[in-house]
Formats: sequence, structure tokens, C-alpha cells
Amino acid sequence: MNNEPIKICILGGGFGGLYTALYLADFSWLKSGKCQITLVEPKNNFLFTPLLYEILTGELQRWEIAPSYQKLLAGKKIDLRQDKAKGVDLDNRQVQLEQGSSLVYDYLVLAVGQKTRWIDIPGLAAHALTFRSIFDAENLQERLRLLEASGRQKLRVAVVGAGPNGVELACKVSDRLSPRAEVIIIDRGAEILRNFAKGVKKAAYQAIKNRNIQVYLESGLKEITQEQITFFCNDNLIDYPVDLVLWTAGTENIDWVANLNCQQNNQGRILVHPTLQLIDYREVFAVGDIAEIRQSKTQIVPATAQAAYQQASLLAKNLKLTLQGKSLKHFRYLHLGDMLTLGKGVAIVSSFGINLTGSLAGLIRRLIYIFRLPTFRHRWQVLKNLLHLK
Ligand SMILES: Cc1cc2nc3c(=O)[nH]c(=O)nc-3n(C[C@H](O)[C@H](O)[C@H](O)COP(=O)(O)OP(=O)(O)OC[C@H]3O[C@@H](n4cnc5c(N)ncnc54)[C@H](O)[C@@H]3O)c2cc1C
Repeated sequence: MNNEPIKICILGGGFGGLYTALYLADFSWLKSGKCQITLVEPKNNFLFTPLLYEILTGELQRWEIAPSYQKLLAGKKIDLRQDKAKGVDLDNRQVQLEQGSSLVYDYLVLAVGQKTRWIDIPGLAAHALTFRSIFDAENLQERLRLLEASGRQKLRVAVVGAGPNGVELACKVSDRLSPRAEVIIIDRGAEILRNFAKGVKKAAYQAIKNRNIQVYLESGLKEITQEQITFFCNDNLIDYPVDLVLWTAGTENIDWVANLNCQQNNQGRILVHPTLQLIDYREVFAVGDIAEIRQSKTQIVPATAQAAYQQASLLAKNLKLTLQGKSLKHFRYLHLGDMLTLGKGVAIVSSFGINLTGSLAGLIRRLIYIFRLPTFRHRWQVLKNLLHLK
């Protein structure tokens, strides 16, 4: 009889991977030692991205939104492997790691998220900053501090991309640099927040207007230099002087994921069954931004933390059902609503047709996110800090 534990390997400790691991760790059959769970993650700290903007305005501190994996996984039966996957041999069930070793698995979870997509525009990669990691936030914070200390009358920031990332960032940066802020948003599309409900767009436009943020839509970038951003808008070529350019206009799968020997859509996202299993490899699951999960023929589950969080819960259950030899459940995405921060202390919370804006919405958003933070202990520490409890 084979007494080897069943090896479950999770690649990536973000919303998809970390939450899957935490759900699995709570199952009693796992505590019996029949399974060995390994989480492969190169970073020291998890990042709760929806609250990253609050670092810029000092509303939240690093420890609150980026707790260490060591702390989150303390006392849990999960082996943390601080390394980066550099490829997977799906046929031989092996993960190659950057530090040279490899891992053999019985079940694999792919949850490595995406990276920034750069497009070929002169000066873009050299001069624009991204906003996806705690490093990005702290780098931007330092750049904003230097700008504030420069004594200049106008502090000019261009945000490229009018999706949620661009709109939230523009409002927060504007508040941080107020009253000297001169912020613009540039986007190729015809409107801001393309896939969002009317009420959310309306609140965002109001926040933008209140801050005198100029929005240039249907505009294509031509060039970026250290002092200037050049773009086409309504057949005009605009040279706009800038101190900072922030790039929020796209993500893509990392190279080895895009080259995996499995079915992908035309943007390289991995196609999965509603059970979250890969089409040709039933022992491999994919969740989060790297996967294309269809709710119906026309409806694709969005690449958001909200969706990844829901997938993690189902994935943990499906792994358990697999080990019990039972049939797996289908993923059903439930859109609970949208929440955007629209400046310091303010937000829009839109859920099931009800829209709340302003500082009350800011507080509700903060509280909802605190309850979504990983582990009860961490949630409680952040909540205590908010309530000024010892
Ligand atoms: C600034 C910002 C704000 C956002 N706000 C919201 C919001 O308000 N609401 C919302 O729903 N969504 C939001 N999102 C989107 C959300 O963060 C993503 O949809 C979500 O994180 C996807 O989860 P994931 O598990 O696929 O990837 P991630 O959470 O990105 O996790 C991927 C993990 O994999 C690790 N990794 C990368 N490469 C490797 C490798 N080769 N080997 C091993 N590990 C690897 C990474 O270090 C990371 O920890 C925001 C994103 C950003 C950047």
C-alpha cells in the first residue's frame, strides 16, 4: 500500500492561490496528514491590491494590506516554498523552479496572476511607472514626496488608462498633491470605466470633475519623454508637460504561462471547465486572472479579486471532492457589486442597484475589505487599528 501523502502544489499566493491554500488548510481531512500542500510564491508578503491606493495618502500602512506569508500561514499545514515557478511539464506532472529544483505533484493549482503589458510606444517603458505592487506604491509615494518638496506651483501627473485602476489612482494622486495637483487621464476608449454600471460611472465623473482632472478619451499615445507626454486626441497632436506618467492600461500572462501546452484564448488566458480544471489535464486547476472561465457562452467571469476569491473557495471544495472520488461542482460567479475609492476617505459602493457615495461609502468599503483580508487574526489587527483599540 502506498502511504505517500497526496501532493497538492499551488503556484502563486495571491487572491486565487493563497485563499485556496487557506480554505484547504481548514479542512479536517487535510489535518490528518493524507495530503501535503505546497504553496510556491516568490514574495515575502501577500498584497491586498484593492487597498493599495490608500498607501499613497497614508490612510493605510504597509503591514495592513501586505501581511507576510509567514505570519498568515503560521500554524497551518502548508509548506511555503519561497521560489518562482519557471515552467510546468503538464505531461510529467512537474514544476520547474527558478532556484534549480523541481516539484512533483498529484494536483496542481495555477494562480500566478498577470504582469503589466507594455506596448511599443517610444519612452513608455523608460518613463512611465506602474501601480501593481507594494514596491510600485512605495516608489510612487517617494516620487510624489520629491515632487511636493520641489516647490513647483503645479505638480503634473498623467494617468494612462481609464479603467478602475486609472480612475482610482488619478483621484488619490490628485488628493495627495492637492492643491497643486494637475492630473489628466488619457484613454483609447470612448468612455471611462467601460464595463461598469451607470451609477458608478456617474459618481466617478463627479469625483473627476470635483478635482479638475482632465479626461482625454479616444486618445492614442505617441511618445513619452521625461518632461512631456504626446498623444493624439480628435486629430490633434497634444504635447502635455508632465512630472510623472502612470501606466495602468493593460496586463498579460507571464511568458511560461502563455507557452503552456494547454488550451488558451486569443489573449493567452487558460481555458478551464466550469469545475476550474484545465480542458486536457483534469488534475490541474487554474484560477484568477490567468484563467478564462465562462459563465455561459457569451459571459466570461471578470479578472478581478472578487472573482478569484470566489473561485478559491470552490476550488478547495473541488479538490476535496476529487480526493473523495465524487463529482465536482461548477463555478457560478455572483457579482456582489463594485467598490471604487474616489479620493481620500471617499468611495462609491454599488451593490444590487443601490449606490452609496462619499465618506460613508469610504468607511463601508474599508470595512468590507477588512473582512475580506486573509486570516481572522490579521482582520482583527487591522480592525483594531481602524477603531483605535489597543
Ligand atoms: C492596484 C490594483 C487594484 C485592484 N483593485 C481591485 C478591486 O478593487 N477589486 C477587485 O475585484 N480586483 C481588483 N484588482 C484586481 C485583482 O488584484 C486581481 O484580479 C487579483 O489579484 C487576481 O488574483 P490572482 O490570484 O489571479 O493573481 P494575484 O493576486 O496577482 O496573485 C498572483 C501571485 O502569484 C505570484 N507569482 C507570480 N509569478 C509567479 C511564479 N512564476 N511562480 C510563483 N508565484 C508567482 C505573485 O507574486 C502573486 O503573489 C486590483 C488590481 C490592482 C493591481
